[in-house]
Amino acid sequence: MPYQAFAGEPAARSAKASPADVRRNNRQIIFNLLFPTNQFSRAELGRQTGLSRVAVSDVVGQMLEEGLLRETGQAPSAGKGKRGTLLSIDTDRLRIISIDLTQEHLLNGAVTNLLGQPLKRAEITLNDDGDVSAQIIIELIEKMLGMSDGEIIGIGISSPGVVDNGVVRSSTMRGWRDLDLATPISDHFGIDVTVTNDAISAVLTERFFGQGGPNMLFVRMDVGIGSAILVNNRPVIGEMHAAGEIGHISIDLNGPLCPCGKRGCLERYLSGNILKTRMENASENQRQEILREAGLHLGQALAMPAGLLDLADICVFGQPLVVNDVFLEATQQYLDAATVSSFHKHTVVRRCECGPDIIVQGEAIAVILHYLATK
Ligand SMILES: [Zn+2]
Repeated sequence: MPYQAFAGEPAARSAKASPADVRRNNRQIIFNLLFPTNQFSRAELGRQTGLSRVAVSDVVGQMLEEGLLRETGQAPSAGKGKRGTLLSIDTDRLRIISIDLTQEHLLNGAVTNLLGQPLKRAEITLNDDGDVSAQIIIELIEKMLGMSDGEIIGIGISSPGVVDNGVVRSSTMRGWRDLDLATPISDHFGIDVTVTNDAISAVLTERFFGQGGPNMLFVRMDVGIGSAILVNNRPVIGEMHAAGEIGHISIDLNGPLCPCGKRGCLERYLSGNILKTRMENASENQRQEILREAGLHLGQALAMPAGLLDLADICVFGQPLVVNDVFLEATQQYLDAATVSSFHKHTVVRRCECGPDIIVQGEAIAVILHYLATK
C-alpha cells in the first residue's frame, strides 16, 4: 500500500467502495479533524464532515473501543438541546515504536503515544563504521517492546535515502541498495512496519507541531541534505519514490567528487558535516563567509522549485551552528533576488524549531496514518 498521509476525502461515493472502505475512510476523516489536539462533539463532527448522525456515532463508537479516541467532557451549551460529549485523540492506550536511522553513530528509538510524543527511549551505539543491519534494529525494538505500557499498533522506521514500500532503494549515508527492512522486522514481531524517508517524517512533525501550513518546502541539513515537499497537505512522493532527494543533484558537473559517483552534488556544498569541518579551524569572519556562501547555494538550489510550485514557506532544519541567521539571511537574499515578482509573492525562509525529536515524532505520525489507511 503506497504511503498516504492525510488520506480521507468526504465519504467515498464510488460504486465500488465496500462498506469496509467507507468505514475506513470515515475513520480517517474523523481522526484527521481531531488530530493532534482538537476536541469536538459528535454533532460538530457531523457538521464538519457532512456524515449522518448514525454514521458518526457508529464510527466514533468503534474508535473509542479501539483506543483511538476518548471522551473528554461536555461541550459548552449551544443554547438549546442537550450538551454533547467532547471527543479527542486518546493518548493513554495505544503505543507506537518509532526508530530514527539518521544518526551516524547511534540508533535511537522511542515508544510514543498517538501524538507521536516519546514516552520511553532506547538507544544502541554503532561501531565506527556506522553499519546498521535489520538485526540491530530488531534488538533495539526488542528492548522497547518491554518498555511499552500499551498495545503497539505499529513500528515505524525513518531512514535516509529513497524509500519504496518498506524497502530502502538507496541510501548513500548508510551505504544501502534495495534493503528490505519492513519484511524481516514485521515477520519477526508480527507487527506492521512502516518505513519512511527521514525528511518526510520530519515534515509531518513540522506540519502538526511546528509552524508549517499545508504547503511547504522542508529542508533537512544534517550528515547529508534532504528535503520534503508538502502540497495541499500531502507529501510529494514522486515516480521513483525519490521526490525531495536533492542532495545528489549536481550544481556543478566539474565540482568535487561525491561518494555517489557524480561531481558537484549539492551535498558536497551543503551537508552539515562538511560545513562544520570547513568551519573548524576558520576565523569568525571566515566562518561567516562559509555560511553566507552556503546559504546562497541553498537559495540557488531552491529558487526554482519554490517558484515552480509557488511555495511561500521554506523551513530549514539543522544544527544551530550551521542553520543560523547568517546562513538563512543569505538564502533569503538569493530567493528574493531570484523569485520575487508581481505574480510571485515573497517566499520566506525560516529555521525549523521542532527540536531533536522531530524524526521519531514524525515517524510515529507516519505509522498512525498507515494504520488508519490499512486497518
Ligand atoms: Zn552525490
